[in-house]
Amino acid sequence: MACKRSGVQFPHPPLHFRNKRQFHLMWNLAFCVGSGLFSMSRLSLLISTAQTDKTFEKKGVLWVGKCLICNGPVAFDGMTGEGATLEHIRATSRGGTNAPDNLGIVHAACNSEKGRRWDSKRKKSEAEYERFVELLIQKRQKRWPGLV
Ligand SMILES: [Zn+2]
Repeated sequence: MACKRSGVQFPHPPLHFRNKRQFHLMWNLAFCVGSGLFSMSRLSLLISTAQTDKTFEKKGVLWVGKCLICNGPVAFDGMTGEGATLEHIRATSRGGTNAPDNLGIVHAACNSEKGRRWDSKRKKSEAEYERFVELLIQKRQKRWPGLV
């Protein structure tokens, strides 16, 4: 049996679902949650990053500030997160975490440029990568409210 919309294969309904329709609803819900469609975590990380970046201020529904990579103006919608991208200073593929001091708000283009030029392990040596990450970390620290 396959989901008509997504084509994903799934097993027969387990007994505790009243009927196939109920199982189907639950399956689709789980699929959407799993695929990040209903995930609030990206938005809440964007907001907590903006709150700890002095260049950002809330203007109506928008958060307006400066891209961590190019310093150009960038803004995102505080309800949907649309308009900017969350950047891992140290890429998750290089062991970076979701801690706010490892996150910056950047243009989508800057994010993909960094991913292409720096995060790929084939392109840069560890030492080069560490120097680059250190620069961005320092920049992020300078924007932290209450710090120099
Ligand atoms: Zn940028």
